[in-house]
Amino acid sequence: MQDLTEHIFELIRRTSTDLPADVEGSLREAADREQSGSAARGALETILKNVELSRRNSTPICQDTGTPIFYVHFPEGWSTRQLRRQIEAAVAKATKSSYLRPNSVNALTDENTGNNLGDEHFPSIHFTEVDGDALTIDLMLKGGGCENVGTQYSLPNNQLGAGRDLHGVRKVVLDAVHKAQGQGCAPGILGVAIGGDRGSSYYASKEVLCRKLGQGNANPELAALEKRLTEEANQLGIGPMGFGGKTTVLDTKITGLHRLPASYFVSVSYMCWAYRRRRMTVRSGEISYG
Ligand code: SF4
Repeated sequence: MQDLTEHIFELIRRTSTDLPADVEGSLREAADREQSGSAARGALETILKNVELSRRNSTPICQDTGTPIFYVHFPEGWSTRQLRRQIEAAVAKATKSSYLRPNSVNALTDENTGNNLGDEHFPSIHFTEVDGDALTIDLMLKGGGCENVGTQYSLPNNQLGAGRDLHGVRKVVLDAVHKAQGQGCAPGILGVAIGGDRGSSYYASKEVLCRKLGQGNANPELAALEKRLTEEANQLGIGPMGFGGKTTVLDTKITGLHRLPASYFVSVSYMCWAYRRRRMTVRSGEISYG
């Protein structure tokens, strides 16, 4: 089996230091919308300057390099045990090279392992076997501040007047954005999962964030709700970093899961402006990055 350690290390470097073009483009559009001289525009211009500097100097975009979350889609024949070892070795090396901050802390002893390795959940690695001959590794670096404002609702929610339908989903998602206020480093991107159990719902709300900004939903009803939620969230006036302004949310991504008749969960994963995600593809031994 091909040793991908060095290529995964490069995937981590790119993810940590080079914000994807769709995110940067969306931040530029947001800056253009804000009034000249306003705190909101100033915050976005500072963010964009930082994005350029990080890319040029190959340094992390944010001091919090977050939880490394890997989604590995592999064809038959690859060993997930070996892939896990290679990912862990690349993560440790990237930490030593300061592309990742040491972020793995034992919950009971508060001890930092110093290399971003921990139990089997840190880094977070998800494997799926697929048809075809290409192996892909998607990496997302999910900051702690935005993770803290992620939340989950069990519908119906009488306090918010949210029933078990898409109107109810709309109400609770807007409630989550309102509660987050400036925390979580707005403008953010919303990952929303409807249905599932508590665990699968949270998982899917994060996974849906792998979709590119501006990439519409194949389901017309969900596509309409995504658009409406982004527009309405931006009418809340929270703005970049909570300074007020026209852009609180850059985009919304929604997915629907099957659920038990007894349960109706809505999970919201909030991703900060530092929406660091990259993909590596291995096909016939050749490596490419996206
Ligand atoms: S929430 Fe995002 S932008 Fe804010 S400190 Fe954390 S990683 Fe950085």
